[in-house]
Order: sequence, then C-alpha cells, then structure tokens
Amino acid sequence: MLEHNARHFHARSVVPKHSPRESVFSILRCPQCGSALRLAPAEKRVYCNNEDGSCTVRQGFPMVGDQPVLVVFERSVLCEASLVEGDGSSPIRRRKPGGLARNTLRRIVLALRGANRVAEPNCRRFLAELSEISPQPVALNIGGGSVGCGTQALHGNTGNVRVLCFDIYASPETDFIADAHDIPLPDASVDGVWIQAVLEHVIQPDRVVAEIHRVLKPGGIVYAEIPFMQTVHEGAYDFTRLTDTGIRWLFRWFDRIQSGTVLGPGSALLWSITAALTGLFRSQKAGNLVATLLFFWVRFLDYAVAAPFAIDTACGLYFLGRKAAKAISPKDAIGSFQGVPA
Ligand SMILES: [Zn+2]
Repeated sequence: MLEHNARHFHARSVVPKHSPRESVFSILRCPQCGSALRLAPAEKRVYCNNEDGSCTVRQGFPMVGDQPVLVVFERSVLCEASLVEGDGSSPIRRRKPGGLARNTLRRIVLALRGANRVAEPNCRRFLAELSEISPQPVALNIGGGSVGCGTQALHGNTGNVRVLCFDIYASPETDFIADAHDIPLPDASVDGVWIQAVLEHVIQPDRVVAEIHRVLKPGGIVYAEIPFMQTVHEGAYDFTRLTDTGIRWLFRWFDRIQSGTVLGPGSALLWSITAALTGLFRSQKAGNLVATLLFFWVRFLDYAVAAPFAIDTACGLYFLGRKAAKAISPKDAIGSFQGVPA
C-alpha cells in the first residue's frame, strides 16, 4: 500500500526470483504496438517485430542487466537517460543505508507508526481467488520492485501461482521494466493483477486501469490500494487521491468483490502531523521523528472509528474486483458508497 509501507517497511526482504527470465521474455510484447519482440543479445537491445510499419519504436528498447526496458519514452514521465545510463534505479528517491544506531531508531519509529494490516489477508484472498480460476494461474505485480507491505506471498516461491513483476526500475524482484500506461503483455494474458501504492503515482489512472482490464482474462481478479487522506510523497511523482466512490468509478469495468479501508483516520492524522512538523522543522527526518515520538498514539483511533466514518477519512483504501464485460453506471457507483450518507 501506502508508499511508506511499500517502500520502507519490507524493503529488506529481497529474495531473488526463481523463474528464469528467458521464459518471461517470450510472452512480452511491444508496449507501442503489441507485436512480439526479438532480443539482439550482442547489442543488448530488444526490437519490435512489427512488419506493417505502424510501430514508431524503430530504435528498439534498451536493457538494464538482463531486464528489457519496455517503455515508450516519448509518452512516459520516465526518462531513458536516467534509467539506462544510470544504474537502472528508480527516478523516485531511494533510501540510503544507515548505521546500526540509525537503523535501530528507524525500526523504533516504524514500529510506533504501525503497518498496513489488511494487505496480508487480502493477498491471501487474492491468491485464493486466482486458484479458483485456474490450477496454474499467472499474476502480474505492477510496481513490485520492492516487496510491498503484506505481499511476501507474491514474491519468491508462490506455490501454484506464477507471478510476473515489473516496476519503473530494475530490482531482484522484477522481470522487466515498464510504464503501467502501456503494459507490454498481450490481451487476456493474466489471471490476476496486484497494484499496491502505484495508482497515485501514475499520470492517467484511468488509462492504467484500462490496461489492467485489457491484460486480464475474462473473470480475472484485480487488487488495488490507493491513498486517500495522505500528504504528497515522492515529490512530483504523486498525482491522485481517491474516495470510496472515486475508486469504485475508476474500477467501473470490474465487479466489486470487496473494498474498504487500508489504514484509518488515526493514521491519516499522523501523516498530517508529520507533514506539519516537517514543514516547521524544514526536515523530513526531524518531522517524522518528533511526530512519531509525540503523536504515535493518534493512530489507535483507527481501531475506535466505525467503518463508514473510517471510509470517509481513511489514510488509504483498497479494491478487490473481478473483470466484467460491462461497466457499472454512474448511478451504480453512487449506490455503491460505503461511507456516511450526506
Ligand atoms: Zn512495436
């Protein structure tokens, strides 16, 4: 979920994937035109096999290590130079490793701030739903470059579920690099899509959800987490917040299985206090430390506030749904509201 949890709580548990990347390569498609791809190992480039001349990516796609970078840079916020000529790491700020004392303090702060408690059971539910669809389902983890909170089951050995993973940077977790606005996979090619703490960072969430709908098989499962009452994080790469009906409408081409609160109003309040103190001290580190030590207790409001009120002031929301052939109507979205009626 929430970017802090996703990127910071479990970044330590990086387990290299066991599936060979060559087997992934054969199912990847050109993100511009959808044609099959051809690897030119000597050049360390990937080319589109499009023969009718309609594809504009004639110069091919670069590689970072053994991972293809399947991004149409001319229409992406991602920059080829920083991705490829750099170390392939995220254009979004990465945490620097610290010393022992710093790490201990970090752990105390993280423990006091609490974690996303719904992602892990929701992940189990997601995997169970996939197993209902197929004996050997394929799941796509969008933005899984680091192990998100509660998503351990999607990384490493996942039993009968094969998980493909991409992000906007290369990591031991990823199979390829891509922009979620142009998912480089064929139509109806996966049984499930997991997208946690990503939709707020994409410039066109509608387009990304349309892509998720496209790559899912009929009846495929989607799980998304997106912030609501949260201050800006990751600087310029933060575009969107959604309410309960906002997220329902975004996923209008899906039947709702379940949706609700990720972290409640107490956690949202702690985010705001942290942001205010960060502004006061002009330091993220000081704001985070002082807010956590003095005000960690406000997050326990999460446990005291009733569900409809929590929906209206949640730190973040989740949506678990099933691909449908038909969209819900605007009135259906209004009727689906789970918060407090006006
Ligand atoms: Zn192409």
